[in-house]
Amino acid sequence: MTNNNHSPVLHPMVSPSILNLIGQTTIVKGDGVFVYDKQGNELLDCMAGLWCVNVGHNHPKMNKAITEQLEKIAFYNSFVDFTNEPAEMLANELLTWLKPEQMAKVMFSSGGSDANETALKLARQYWLLEGQKNKTQFISLTNGYHGLHFGVTSITGIEIHKQAYAPLLQNCHHIPTPCLYRNPWTSDSDELADIIASQLEEKIIAIGEHNIAAFIAEPIQGAGGVIVPPAKLWPLFRKVCDKYNILLIADEVVTGFGRSGELFGCRNWQVSPDIMCLAKGLTSGYIPLGATVLNEKVAKAWQHSGPESMIMHGYTYSGHPLACAAGLTALSIVQEQQLHINAAQVGEYLLQSLRPFKEHYSLVGDVRGKGLMVVLDLVECKTSKAPLDPASPLNQQLVQLAQSQGVIIRNVGSKVILSPPLTFTRSHVDTLVKTLHFAFDRVS
Ligand code: PLP
Repeated sequence: MTNNNHSPVLHPMVSPSILNLIGQTTIVKGDGVFVYDKQGNELLDCMAGLWCVNVGHNHPKMNKAITEQLEKIAFYNSFVDFTNEPAEMLANELLTWLKPEQMAKVMFSSGGSDANETALKLARQYWLLEGQKNKTQFISLTNGYHGLHFGVTSITGIEIHKQAYAPLLQNCHHIPTPCLYRNPWTSDSDELADIIASQLEEKIIAIGEHNIAAFIAEPIQGAGGVIVPPAKLWPLFRKVCDKYNILLIADEVVTGFGRSGELFGCRNWQVSPDIMCLAKGLTSGYIPLGATVLNEKVAKAWQHSGPESMIMHGYTYSGHPLACAAGLTALSIVQEQQLHINAAQVGEYLLQSLRPFKEHYSLVGDVRGKGLMVVLDLVECKTSKAPLDPASPLNQQLVQLAQSQGVIIRNVGSKVILSPPLTFTRSHVDTLVKTLHFAFDRVS
């Protein structure tokens, strides 16, 4: 890392004083699960860029697909009556992948925040088209992360993302996160599912079902700390949403395309949502792209012919040809290499290798995850499970020690999050675990 406080770029998610202290790492190239900094250091990328480079860096097929499209045309809009071949093909491919969920229409955008923001707006418009104009409010989970536009910041359940930007969208409600490790009620998975589902039901009754457009959640919470819900919970969410006539939106921005060991996070729970939001793995991060996918029931509302069924929400870069060409190839690589299956197997090996950290290190309160999304939950005290102070220097020390050994890990608050490319192997896991021992041994 080089000390550089003269960068013209504003860096999010870090305080300027810490950035001055730790300096910046300039990444100049990548190859598979490795990236290289300006000084020529090889770094094992255990963040997959940012949960997204699922097929690995500098993949020749990805590069070829993008350059071939570039040689035809880089961009034309997909508004009104224009479209392009990659967008139409990718939408068809997505609907084929999502046949079990009975998905019917795709709306493209430029990333995860866009995909969720689009879902919120379309959910409201759906109810308007159905003649229920009061159904405008949203419910989501505390600890949920849904992106950074004003709408999605409002439904995000992590306070630090909201504090500087109030007032946000009104009438967004939260119910507790389904965290088995840290909750005030129980250590029994089924009981926790019942409690959280009851909380949803009570919230709906308190607000009035005629006022609620949708409930939105990640099938496995990512940035909030890799919180894997009880297996029973999502089927209960589906049941409650159906009972009160509320749309169920799955934010699959992280879990889509194999990261959790299934092609989609919801498939872990055998649940079909009404709307799915996709990004990141959709193009493996090679070019920004988001997609909001509607099931048949929701899509049907737009068959009305009046002006009220016009979707007055579309981004300049919706259906960007280069991004969609990248998406088609990213999906084909996931399918050819069965990367979701690799994520399940290598992820399980990673979890098994990390579980002993709970016994070895007083800092590690919990180790959990699914597929290649895994977290070490750091604590001040194992008995109280009080999270390590996010401002503790230990957080940064761990990251820096790992990086000194050629491994990039991510610190989020009091958590070390591991989300490598889905091409990760057992031998990469061994390197990562050895490096984590090196780092934890030095801060313990
Ligand atoms: N939803 C989830 C679950 C995410 O993890 C993220 C980003 O990490 C987003 C939405 C926002 O995506 P983007 O940063 O592409 O806008």
